[in-house]
Amino acid sequence: MKNKPMTSWAEIQLILEETQPLVGERWRYPLAQALSKLPREVWKFAIEKCGIVCESTGTPAYCITMTNKYLKGKKHMIVITPRLWYRTEMIQACVVAHEVAHAMINHERDLYKQSSKQVQKEQRRADMLAFNWLQSHYPKKKLKSYFV
Ligand SMILES: [Zn+2]
Repeated sequence: MKNKPMTSWAEIQLILEETQPLVGERWRYPLAQALSKLPREVWKFAIEKCGIVCESTGTPAYCITMTNKYLKGKKHMIVITPRLWYRTEMIQACVVAHEVAHAMINHERDLYKQSSKQVQKEQRRADMLAFNWLQSHYPKKKLKSYFV
């Protein structure tokens, strides 16, 4: 009997369970869904190089890039509030893609050194990359209205 290929979200969910202890059990499914919308090498990067945290915070989501060895082999930390999982599936994918984009572009988070112009530029770059990743999954017009 041939093995059925695993759908990538189920595969991602399993990897999250094994490697991302700070993603609460009930957030694994929606996070895996959002990550599965990204190209394979991108979600692999996100899981291998980022520590992902799902917890209650005031901020919807953010990505921190660390220059020290705080996380073994992981340089980025992506923090997502569980409130995100009550939004639409597209918004979930957009937020996750945007934060993964920050990590992938290697944006250093130093709010004290950065000018607001620099911050805006980084936000736009992350949005553009996320938009490119997701455009095969959602209507471009709807995506554009989210990413502006
Ligand atoms: Zn951002």
